[in-house]
Amino acid sequence: MGPGILVKSLLQGSFSLMVFGWAQIIMDIQPLVVLITGEGHLHGFSHTYVGASLLAIFAALSGKYLSEFGLYILDISTESAPVKISWWVAFLSAFIGTYSHVVLDSIMHIDVQPFYPFSYLNPMLGFVGVITLHKFCLYSGLVGAVIYFSIRVVLKQPGK
Ligand SMILES: [Zn+2]
Repeated sequence: MGPGILVKSLLQGSFSLMVFGWAQIIMDIQPLVVLITGEGHLHGFSHTYVGASLLAIFAALSGKYLSEFGLYILDISTESAPVKISWWVAFLSAFIGTYSHVVLDSIMHIDVQPFYPFSYLNPMLGFVGVITLHKFCLYSGLVGAVIYFSIRVVLKQPGK
């Protein structure tokens, strides 16, 4: 979620953190099922760029209305000031979500084959250490939060 918050701070209303987060959940359903059942390839087809493309389309289609409902539940969206997520924002957020997920997971998980079925190689593996990777996610989120709220204060806009 950290990098998502950073992207949100930069793209503001052109990016949906809700759809991005929904895409993260969808991406890890397959590994979760594998962990529970003990069967199958842990980071299988879902963690390839081909699989992530399909899941991004699904995340955008299902995430637009789900996220609008979530924003309503969280009171960010109200009857008088409804927050609508446009389709292009939903798709952009979903694709950024699933592709960045594959990139980050391929750095830290040895069984990820991001370019399957074209290649079994994972050139990103070990690009940086796991601790560095986790720090990157944490700090990008903190930096993103600072940028996001700084821009809000400067523009004096109500939060969306
Ligand atoms: Zn994953």
